[in-house]
Formats: sequence, C-alpha cells, structure tokens
Amino acid sequence: MIEVKNLWHIYEGKRIALKNVSLSFGNEIVALVGPNGSGKTTLAKHFNGLLKPTKGEVFIDGINTKNASVAELSRIVGYVFQNPENMFFEENVFKEVAFGPKNLGLSGEALEERVKWALRIVNLSGYEDRSPYSLSGGEKQRLAIACILAMKPKYVILDEPTTGLDEKSSKSVKEVIKKLRKEGHGIMLITHDMELVLELAERVVLLYDGIKVFDGSVDEFFQLDLRNYEMEIPELLRISKSLGISFVRNVDEFVNFLLERVGT
Ligand code: ADP
Repeated sequence: MIEVKNLWHIYEGKRIALKNVSLSFGNEIVALVGPNGSGKTTLAKHFNGLLKPTKGEVFIDGINTKNASVAELSRIVGYVFQNPENMFFEENVFKEVAFGPKNLGLSGEALEERVKWALRIVNLSGYEDRSPYSLSGGEKQRLAIACILAMKPKYVILDEPTTGLDEKSSKSVKEVIKKLRKEGHGIMLITHDMELVLELAERVVLLYDGIKVFDGSVDEFFQLDLRNYEMEIPELLRISKSLGISFVRNVDEFVNFLLERVGT
C-alpha cells in the first residue's frame, strides 16, 4: 500500500506544489490527472523518494520515505518516465533491460531469465540484439516498461505512457498495462489522455493547483464538468451520453448497447 498523509510540498522559491494531499493506493489502476502544473509529477516523485515531504508523510508498504533511500524505494516503486528515449544508454535491448537487475545483484542464468521474462510481458521477445534507438515510439515505451519491470517493483508509475504514440502503438502499450495489472502490480497512470483513463483506470485522482479535488470512480469522474479543470470528456463518452447511454468504457461496449437497443 502507498499511503500519503497530509502531504505538503513547497519548492525552493516558495512555490507550493502540493497542499495537504492525502491518498492511499494499492493493487489497482489509478489515473492521476489534472492540468499542467497541478502537482502530478511532484506527487509521483514522493513515491520513490526523489522528493521528501515539506510537511506530512508518505509510506510505501509501511516504510516512511523520510528514512529511506531512492535506491531502496525504487525496488518497490518503479517509475517509467515520460520520453523514455532519454533514458536509454546501452547498445542493445538485452543490455538495456539487464542493467537494473544486474545492479540488484542478479547474474548468469537468473539475469537472462529475468530479462526474457520482462521482454515477453511487453511483447519484445526477439528484439534482444536491436539498438534501443532503432525502435518505434511504442516499442521504446514498452522497452522502458520492461527495464522497470525487470527489477520486479510491486508498484509501477507510468508518466504519460501514451503521449506522442499513434493509435496502434498506444493500443500495444495499453495491452501491456492490462497485463501488468493481471500480474498483480499496482499501477498509477499520470496522464492527460482521457481515452486511456476511460479504458483502463479503476479509480481517478484529480489534482488542481496542488489540491486533491476528486478521488473516486471513473464513472463519477466523467460526470464532473471537466472544462472547469481544463480537460474534456472523450469523444466516445460524449456521443454515448448524447444518445442517453450513461457510461461505456470502449467501442465494443458502445456497440453492444446500440445492438441491445435495436433488439428491443
Ligand atoms: P504537473 O506534473 O501536474 O504538470 P508539477 O508537479 O510538475 O505539475 O508542478 C507543480 C508546480 O510546481 C508547478 O507550479 C511547477 O512550476 C512547480 N515546480 C515543479 N518543479 C519545480 C522545481 N524543481 N522548482 C520549483 N518549482 C517547481
């Protein structure tokens, strides 16, 4: 469980980025949303100790982040940064994924098994000898996820995992996220992509100007007037609502509703 208790974060220069935020998060897919500058990244950086509370406390599986190192917390919380291409530095995909677990002390067959396992989950088996830089946008995103997974963190934070990806790549990243959930990881999606929220999230936390203004179900979230928070509801939901269908997650559900209606 990740527990945030009355967290305040004030940057040097006195910018108040988080104002008394409390939240807990476990084995689920939580979407952390809000306009630019609302405090999402600041909050996420508290989960692996990159930032420490100005006031309040953050506990990761019972460990107070005040007393823990980034290295220790990173074993529990993996953070997949935005624009993953900036993080690759090895000559091939195998070495890139092996880097983290090697640092954790894995070697030989165990290391090879671990890398193969992580690549299998993100559907990049067979890419071992490729240069990370030769991969497509979606493949790079999945490689970044594999690098984090190879360290077997319990929680995975994904920062804008679908931003800049075409539909096909975005779909493949979504499949990976679903798989991670099935494998028992707690997942936090930091995102502007409302389609992603609609399709995958089980819960939504909305930050606005450093304040947690909403924490609840996806259904309830899309009943808010999102324009107040510089966001828009997805096209699919807008069309569904205009047809009197209260809530659908994806096109298949939408079509089923229409078919049922035609059938009655
Ligand atoms: P988001 O991820 O939602 O875009 P951030 O957490 O990046 O929001 O930023 C929250 C607020 O904190 C913004 O006003 C931002 O300008 C400020 N901020 C972020 N990082 C720093 C920093 N290193 N120093 C000072 N202010 C910062």
